[in-house]
Amino acid sequence: MDNYEAISLYEGECPGCGIEFIKKRSNQVYCNSRCKNQYHNGNSRVGRIATKERHEITREVDDILWKNREVLLKYVGEEKNVKELIAEGFKPNYQNYYENKDSKTYFFIYDVKFQSLGKGIIKIFQ
Ligand SMILES: [Zn+2]
Repeated sequence: MDNYEAISLYEGECPGCGIEFIKKRSNQVYCNSRCKNQYHNGNSRVGRIATKERHEITREVDDILWKNREVLLKYVGEEKNVKELIAEGFKPNYQNYYENKDSKTYFFIYDVKFQSLGKGIIKIFQ
């Protein structure tokens, strides 16, 4: 092991604050216990930045999905004409995923699902 390797074992970037620091032990991960605790509690500086960037990317679609969910939640157990739902702000092209079961297709928006009954009618479930 040359000097550089020996030194690099003690250099690290703290996953909590994102700052480079010199470790006291080669297996030290965080620059201090506060960073460690914040990281594990999900509110480290690095974590907050990652979450913020992620939300900037996902917010637009998530807002649409959330609105869809809100519209559908009002009619759980009912059959509705999609046109009426669209008039309430429902965007039928936005779903999280679909599932085929017993030769029926269910479209999921988070915890709500609907099934197409044809002719623009859907049945809503939760
Ligand atoms: Zn730190």
